Amino acid sequence: MEVKVAKFGGSSLADASQFVKVRDILLADPQRRYAIPSAPGKRHARDKKITDMLYACHKAARAGEPSDDLFDEVAARYIRIAQDLRLTLDLQGELDTIRRNLAAYEAPDYAASRGEYLSGILLSAYLGWGFVDPAQGIFFDSRGWLDAERTQQALSALLRGHGHAVIPGFYGATPDGAVHTFSRGGSDITGAIVARAAQAALYENWTDVSGCLMADPRIVDNPLVINQISYRELRELSYMGATVLHEDALFPVRKAGIPTNIRNTNAPQVPGTLISYHPDPCADDRVITGIAGRKDFCVIAIEKTMMNAELGFGRRVLQALEELGISFEHLPTGIDTMCVVCNQQALAGKRARLVRRIYELTEPDTVEIHSEMALIATVGRGMVRSPGTSARLFSALSEAQVNVRMIDQGSSELNIIVGVDNADFERAVRAIYAAFVTP
Ligand code: ASP
Repeated sequence: MEVKVAKFGGSSLADASQFVKVRDILLADPQRRYAIPSAPGKRHARDKKITDMLYACHKAARAGEPSDDLFDEVAARYIRIAQDLRLTLDLQGELDTIRRNLAAYEAPDYAASRGEYLSGILLSAYLGWGFVDPAQGIFFDSRGWLDAERTQQALSALLRGHGHAVIPGFYGATPDGAVHTFSRGGSDITGAIVARAAQAALYENWTDVSGCLMADPRIVDNPLVINQISYRELRELSYMGATVLHEDALFPVRKAGIPTNIRNTNAPQVPGTLISYHPDPCADDRVITGIAGRKDFCVIAIEKTMMNAELGFGRRVLQALEELGISFEHLPTGIDTMCVVCNQQALAGKRARLVRRIYELTEPDTVEIHSEMALIATVGRGMVRSPGTSARLFSALSEAQVNVRMIDQGSSELNIIVGVDNADFERAVRAIYAAFVTP
């Protein structure tokens, strides 16, 4: 039987009623054999996330300040969930151990990881499933980087010993056995690693939204949900600011060819967004898949007559950037002009030195830096088969009176990137969305 791995975010486990939804989801499909819980998140807007509270407990305990009241709040959340679900387990023993060890390590990782650990203990008791401690199966090297191959071997062996198991998210162990966490939001990565180790047919990521949206809902009213998206498209959109999953979460599943399905714990009947290598061409006929963008870029425009005939010109421009430790995002070029698009922040305090160095290395006619620019990526695998896509996009921008200051179309025909003034950003996103999505 094929296996599905299901990861649940903090809001999906914020209280006992959410645990009930999670159990119903897991038991509704016998293929769902491994569950990855996050630490309980906020129950309402003014509530606290358990992980934030645990970081605060560790900080206070290390500073020799009182941390008992803070930890009491954490303990109370779990005790309440256990009582509401009528679980019989030695939760108090676990809480006492954690309280004793809060200040035992200089790094906050142990304390922070206990949020997921306790969620896992409760969920495995509630489901009657096995418990796999990631400290035994997810390994980091001494620099704190994931040791993917060792993890793959150890974790697959552990999972083989369990028909059904709960594996807490967010942490693993370093070679000396110390608990080590991923960066914030890292339970998404654990889920992907478990999916790879279980050779899953599907990685389900259960959250509190019904999938990835075609545009930022703070800019576009009620944007449509993306039904299917390829890993490449999602990477383009995430890079340009669309936030769905932890940015490192897709690598393990993408590498193993496992599709990821974003689902909503509070609306399990909605199919959500399916991310895969090759989305079903019949799934939808939209030309574009999504729009994302970010503000605060700058363009370094370098002009030199006959630049096209000068061997090594581009390399020397990039050398100037490299010498000053500045990385670039895009490189749109013309016959006598070369533009380098960089993050404004990356240039802070280095502008004058960079311009001087470009003059020294390339002897250009002019070098100008334009700031306050936003980049907008319009992404869609459907663009290849739809003539007139760029015409539609640029007419929409011109009708909205947005001045396009830079254009870059990737060679894959998956992505058209435009640079506009920061001040025009929101108007431009809305214009592009309206041009491609009919209400
Ligand atoms: N609980 C951790 C955090 O808040 C990890 C996660 O939820 O993915 O960052």
